[in-house]
Amino acid sequence: MLNVAEGKIEQQLHLKRLALRTLQINVGKLCQQRCTHCHVDAGPKRREIMGQAVIDKVISFLKANPVAKIDITGGAPELNPHFKNLVKTLSRLTDHILLRTNLTVMFEAGHDYLPELYKAYNLELIGSLPCYLAQNVDKQRGNGVFDKSIRALKVLNDIGYGQDGSGLVLNLVYNPLGPQLPPPQAKLESDYKRELLSRYGIRFNRLFSLTNIPINRFKNYLQAEGRYDDYMELLKANYNPATVSKLMCLEQISVDWTGKLYACDFNQMLNMCLSNGKPVYIDQISAPQLIGLDIRIAPHCYGCLAGAGSSCTGSLV
Ligand code: SF4
Ligand code: SF4
Repeated sequence: MLNVAEGKIEQQLHLKRLALRTLQINVGKLCQQRCTHCHVDAGPKRREIMGQAVIDKVISFLKANPVAKIDITGGAPELNPHFKNLVKTLSRLTDHILLRTNLTVMFEAGHDYLPELYKAYNLELIGSLPCYLAQNVDKQRGNGVFDKSIRALKVLNDIGYGQDGSGLVLNLVYNPLGPQLPPPQAKLESDYKRELLSRYGIRFNRLFSLTNIPINRFKNYLQAEGRYDDYMELLKANYNPATVSKLMCLEQISVDWTGKLYACDFNQMLNMCLSNGKPVYIDQISAPQLIGLDIRIAPHCYGCLAGAGSSCTGSLV
């Protein structure tokens, strides 16, 4: 068992990949927002965007290696100029597509078609809303983001998302505002449901509670506040061995805008690529060849292993 008091996690935790179930596609780092906790360092000035040539390679991989789930992320994925066609093509390859949306992107010029597109392809939406209180959301995501997010959720509710019996799934994502572990997911979900319904008449399906991973912008924030070491100690002190067998990196692979593969989006942001001595691109490997490959572990992995655990679809245990 991992002894968190001794040695480095990368020397103690040895994980090998299982059969592939989910392909997470990061279509680029462009985003109209610039949130303080963003592990992608996304923002309006980022120019890393997946082009058609890489999209074609991703599609070829999926045709040869069907997966249960496709998870589209960014940046704001909808700002990729190929987004609409990507969704259309992917929908022919799987009936389960997750889209990570910042919600507010539907109000960007020329993007008012998005709600109907989501619905037409039955995308399962995962929208960021780190709190049901305006001041907390605006502090993390920028002034006015909370009001826009609420407007977006109302638009989605009006076309059926989050409504009983519609089959249109709307999930929300919570992450702590600062260097704390998230509270228990089930309790938080019922608080969100009660508050969003009573304050704004908004309904949604599930709440995913995520731990902030100490990399990139969130790490910079912690270091600027002199709290990075304390946060790492908090994560280590709450290491939970029951999370290990549920880690998302066991059955998921993440592809970046250039086609390079990683165990997860966090490793992607640290350029810890899948490697057999050199980076592996999506057109260089098949799903069966991924099985048994080592998963690269580093101190940020404590973020997934602490407390109830954390993944792109919430708590693990
Ligand atoms: S957290 Fe999401 S919405 Fe915020 S800057 Fe990053 S990608 Fe954009
Ligand atoms: S950050 Fe989490 S998902 Fe990624 S490799 Fe580490 S434990 Fe796995």
